[in-house]
Amino acid sequence: MKHSAWKKRRKPFPLETPGFLRLFFVGVGSAFSKKHNQTNLLVLKGRDHLLIDCGTKCPQALWELGLPVTAVQHLLITHSHADHIGGLEEVALRGRYFAKKKPDMIVTDEYKGILWDMSLKGGIAFGELVDGRPLVFDDVFEARAPEPHPVLQREAWRCRSGSIDLTLFRTKHIPDSAASWRDSFFSLGVVIDGRVLFTSDTRFDPELLIECDARFPLETIFHDCQFFTAGVHASLEELKDLPSGIKKKTYLTHYGDNWAAFQATIRKYGFAGLAHQNVCYDFPEPHRTD
Ligand SMILES: [Zn+2]
Ligand SMILES: [Zn+2]
Repeated sequence: MKHSAWKKRRKPFPLETPGFLRLFFVGVGSAFSKKHNQTNLLVLKGRDHLLIDCGTKCPQALWELGLPVTAVQHLLITHSHADHIGGLEEVALRGRYFAKKKPDMIVTDEYKGILWDMSLKGGIAFGELVDGRPLVFDDVFEARAPEPHPVLQREAWRCRSGSIDLTLFRTKHIPDSAASWRDSFFSLGVVIDGRVLFTSDTRFDPELLIECDARFPLETIFHDCQFFTAGVHASLEELKDLPSGIKKKTYLTHYGDNWAAFQATIRKYGFAGLAHQNVCYDFPEPHRTD
C-alpha cells in the first residue's frame, strides 16, 4: 500500500483511478471532532466508486473536494449514528429535486427498515405526496441487498459495487453493555477486495480481527480508536494487546481532536500510525503467482 497527500486543486477530486483500488478518507475524526471531518470513506477502483457512510459534515467535506453530494451515486451505510448518516437527507433531497437521480445503497432488508423508520423518514418522507402517500425509502434510494455469506463466525454478507468486492459483517458497537455482536444494535464493518479491513465503529473485539486476518489476505486494517477506555469504541489501551502482526498493518481512525498527544504512544505500541484525511491510500494490483 502506498499513500500520498491529495493537494487541493481546481479540478474536483476524481471519483476514479487508472484501475487500482484507492481508499480516501473524507474525514478521520470522531463523531464530535472539530478539527477533522467525520470518519467517512471513499472507495475507488477504475470507474467505480462507493461512499462508506455520510455523516453530518460529509456534504461540506465533499464540497471542499469540488464534489456535490449528487456526484456520489453508490452508498454503503455502516450504522445509524449521525456521524455516519447525518448527510443522507441532503443526498436524498438533492438527488430527488436537483440531480433527478437516485443513488443506490447497499443495504440489508433489516437495516433498510431501521435506517428509514428510525432516522431518515422524519426529514424526507413528508416533503411531497406521491399518489397521496408520503415518500418511502425506494423513492429516494435504489436499495441493493447483499447476499448472506457465511464466511465468518458472525452474520456476514457479500456484494459488489462495480468491480469493488465487499464482505460486510456485524460488529459490536452499541450498547456498551453488549456481550457480543449478537446483542448489539445493527452496525457493520467491511472487508474490501479481500485486502483491506475497515471496522467502522466497534468496541474492542479481538476475535473479529484475528478471524478476519486468518480468513482474508489482509494488507491493511483501518480501525476506529479513542484515546480513553470506556463507552462504545475500541480504545488505544485495549488495541495495544492485539498481536503485533495485526498492529503493524493497522492505521487508527475515528479519533479525537487530542491525537497529537498520543502519536508517540501509537508508534511505541507498534501500530502503522494514524490514518489521515485527504490522503490517497493506493493498493496496486496484487502480484499473480499462478
Ligand atoms: Zn462514528
Ligand atoms: Zn457509531
